[in-house]
Amino acid sequence: MGHSVFHVLNAVDLTRLQIRYDWRQDHVLLHAFRGWDTGTDFSRYNHDFTITTLHPRQGLWLSHEATHRAFEDQGALIHLERILHLMRKGRHRLLDCYFHAPRGIRFVNHVHSDRHGLNNGRSSLMMGGIRRHEPGDEELDVFLDGMNLARGMTFKNAAAGVPMGGCKTTVQMPPIDLDDLEAVGFLAFATDSTRNTTGPDMGFPTELTRVVKEHFSIHFTGAPDGPVGPTGTPTAYGVFRALQEAARFVWGEPSLAGRSIAIQGLGAVGHHLGRFCLDGGARLIVCDRDAARVDAFASAFRGAPIEIVPADDFLRREADILSPCAGGGIFDAENIPSLRYRIILGGANNTLRAASQEEEIELARLLAARGILYQVDWWHNGGGVMTGYEEYVHQDDASFERLMDTVGSRCAERTRENLEGARNEGVTPTERAYRAVEKTIYGDDEAMGWRGGTAHR
Ligand code: NAD
Repeated sequence: MGHSVFHVLNAVDLTRLQIRYDWRQDHVLLHAFRGWDTGTDFSRYNHDFTITTLHPRQGLWLSHEATHRAFEDQGALIHLERILHLMRKGRHRLLDCYFHAPRGIRFVNHVHSDRHGLNNGRSSLMMGGIRRHEPGDEELDVFLDGMNLARGMTFKNAAAGVPMGGCKTTVQMPPIDLDDLEAVGFLAFATDSTRNTTGPDMGFPTELTRVVKEHFSIHFTGAPDGPVGPTGTPTAYGVFRALQEAARFVWGEPSLAGRSIAIQGLGAVGHHLGRFCLDGGARLIVCDRDAARVDAFASAFRGAPIEIVPADDFLRREADILSPCAGGGIFDAENIPSLRYRIILGGANNTLRAASQEEEIELARLLAARGILYQVDWWHNGGGVMTGYEEYVHQDDASFERLMDTVGSRCAERTRENLEGARNEGVTPTERAYRAVEKTIYGDDEAMGWRGGTAHR
């Protein structure tokens, strides 16, 4: 291992580390301990022991000072400082680390905030996916990814009306073998311990949920044969309903009939968004880097008004609406002046190429100055988390119809409220969305850093 908090844990023969940060007081608390004995059989999790009855005979708990010394002894203080810098910047509450040395599993739940999940009447306080990284990946890059995604989850859950705080789990380990119940049981144990309900993200197969549910825990969602199906369809429907509201705001009526809509990416979200838009009478311009996705779309909607364009040329086209449904980071100060759309609103996360909220707001203002209506993506692409919540709460009684009703009405109403509110307040929809949600996450205005509509962080 290179620079790693797990290297420190390994050196002192411990299994758990918590890095807590209180951003109100700018106070850090470190806590390392041995939470289970060597040889604990995690394939027996929730059969022979639970998160509350696990009882290490050789438990060991280090104070903040002793944990700090362990970092010092391993020459890892600069690494620790870099981690703390990221936590401070994003106001992250906790990095909760679990080390399974025999399998080389380095599990970290990046907790941004549990506030929105308090008193929700559920066993989980947070929702955020579980993403695998390669064992050799640089730990600081993995943590940065986890923290950024965790913060995004806090905002997305709050915007979607899902009563859950935001977090994200990163796991550095080799690809998982689903027959290895020791490894799967450990992931279930660690996830349950963090009071997170999760779902497989990049690097983990969606079948992981099926195995966890069969053997260990209900706190995984999104199996391929799950009760409400994949998340792409509800996400696409929420984006579609938000698009109708954007159309109403710009052209006075919600109809998309006759409008040209450019959809970048025809995957789980883009394919179904295309379907909803065609049903609504729109003309489509579409692309995907993957020729098979383009073929699948073209053959599913043969005879419909669809123009297929090469992916590399796509953002140079003109259209009434652009709906990004592929990767993020596609717009910056350089290419915004040449865009030719009236509305940009899609399913992709982090559409703007920004490293902070302030940079994102700057770019949103540039778009507004070009006369392009844009609203930050997490405000309307929460159909995926709403799907996970429906499954977690109702399990086998989860209902696709109820889910689609909730996603549609929530994404439509909130988009209308945000667009009109932003116009009344004289700010961009992105700024208004951040302000509205920050208030519920961080509390009072002073603590949020908002004064008179400007971010001071
Ligand atoms: P996906 O992997 O199923 O589909 C993405 C598609 O985009 C792929 O077919 C890929 O070939 C294509 N693509 C990638 N880069 C491209 C490019 N430069 N030009 C054209 N095509 C390109 O993913 P998805 O689940 O449909 O998610 C799409 C976006 O929406 C992602 O940003 C994702 O984070 C976001 N999102 C998804 C969900 C969900 O429920 N699936 C929820 C919220 C947000």
